[in-house]
Amino acid sequence: MNHIDAFLTQIRAFLQESQILTDANECAHYAQDWSAVLTPNSAATVFPETTEQVSKILSAANSHSISVVPSGGRTGLSGGAVASNGEVVLSLVRMNKIANLHLGALTVQVGAGAITQAVHEFCEPNGVTWPVDFASKGSSCVGGNIATNAGGVRVLRYGNTRNWILGLTAVTMDGTVHEFNGELEKNNTGFDFRQLMIGSEGTLAVVTEATLKLAPLPRSRSVFFFSLENFSSVVELFAFARSRIATLSAFECMDRPCLETTMKHFLLKAPVNLGESNAFVLMEVENAALEECEVWLGEIFEAGLVVDGVMAQNDREAKELWHYREGIAESILSGHDVHQEDVSVPVARLAEFYSEIHSRYRKAFAPTNGGDQAKVYFFGHIGDGNLHIFIQGPKGVDRNQFLADAKKTDLELFKVLKNYKGSVSAEHGIGVLKRHALHFSRTEAEISLMRGLKNVFDPKGLLNPGKVFTI
Ligand SMILES: Cc1cc2nc3c(=O)[nH]c(=O)nc-3n(C[C@H](O)[C@H](O)[C@H](O)COP(=O)(O)OP(=O)(O)OC[C@H]3O[C@@H](n4cnc5c(N)ncnc54)[C@H](O)[C@@H]3O)c2cc1C
Repeated sequence: MNHIDAFLTQIRAFLQESQILTDANECAHYAQDWSAVLTPNSAATVFPETTEQVSKILSAANSHSISVVPSGGRTGLSGGAVASNGEVVLSLVRMNKIANLHLGALTVQVGAGAITQAVHEFCEPNGVTWPVDFASKGSSCVGGNIATNAGGVRVLRYGNTRNWILGLTAVTMDGTVHEFNGELEKNNTGFDFRQLMIGSEGTLAVVTEATLKLAPLPRSRSVFFFSLENFSSVVELFAFARSRIATLSAFECMDRPCLETTMKHFLLKAPVNLGESNAFVLMEVENAALEECEVWLGEIFEAGLVVDGVMAQNDREAKELWHYREGIAESILSGHDVHQEDVSVPVARLAEFYSEIHSRYRKAFAPTNGGDQAKVYFFGHIGDGNLHIFIQGPKGVDRNQFLADAKKTDLELFKVLKNYKGSVSAEHGIGVLKRHALHFSRTEAEISLMRGLKNVFDPKGLLNPGKVFTI
């Protein structure tokens, strides 16, 4: 009996047959994430339903020296949840309980497999919400959000996932169950392991449950959409909004190719007069009276910061405006190979960085006569200094060749980023796809500390091996 068979025999003693998949085709589905760059190859997929089962599965895998890949909604964009070397995928999706909403403590308890949007839907009828929000919320899971320290569209006001986790239960590879920080708001008793788990991309332990912090649901959200001449105007508009509007909750930007591709993909009309504009902004403000919004709009137009603009008149229109932003990634990815960057620089240096990087990309991917070319798209959470750069391959191009060519532009981008003291991964994590870039944002000494911590939590190196760094 090989070690996988021995492992499966051991876990069949406490799992139902319906909790184990071994068929290669079925397993391939769970061994892949949204990045879809690496070829899936896993030995099995298991679906625990309790923390105790996770503990027993990990303990069995540890004793048979079997590598395990924790998996949530698989919306990750850096290959973090991909199993491509015969690992066992540990899918948390069945641990999706949401319960014990406490309005005094402003907390709710969830299983790691709870869908992000389901948490919103559970909480919002009570006038509170978990303010972690982004386009993939309908599929991503809280465990994945924790493991990636997900950002999103309202980081500007609420910060990353890290700010919204009070405590969590995590299981290390040897099967030990830890309850990190319980439900304590204040707890100064040494190292905060809860925070260490957040953003560790499933390399230290498997998160099984969490107590989430909640925020009051805003009374209102006013949503604006503007067309602007160019990116410099975007930064000026942001400076105006940031300094004048205390409850600014989102400031999202996209270039013209992003907007046009999204309009084409979803058959949408232009939200504003496009004219010659090359940059567009979606801005959201919470708890503002209509009169205040009208005053801001007047000032924005008077100062010549925008070319055209609209304000949503009701929730339906607000949702429609958000669609132009939230549909970008799906529209660019649809039917194409895409090489993606997710970088950040200090907000104060964003305009300078954008101008430098934009002209480099435009030169590298300048249109030539005849044939389809790769297209470059810029969009992002400008308020957080976070830019997404997507390079879309032409249809029918040789996939591996395109991805290899696109990757060649990385080195230049990362060198520029290093000069700006920026990050090679603002919110999507390192996973496998950005592993080669880690040293542009973190020092050798820091990476060596990471390896040391990995050795403490997972001495055999079996949990999500090869993710973030190699041992
Ligand atoms: C259209 C689109 C838009 C997106 N927008 C944003 C955005 O605005 N901001 C943003 O931050 N991200 C964004 N993402 C990326 C992605 O949705 C987030 O990273 C999300 O948090 C991943 O959650 P998941 O459940 O899908 O995790 P998965 O993809 O399943 O896993 C991600 C990582 O977490 C690990 N992991 C998963 N569950 C656990 C667990 N229980 N314990 C330990 N480790 C675990 C995995 O091993 C992997 O390393 C977007 C993705 C898409 C497709």
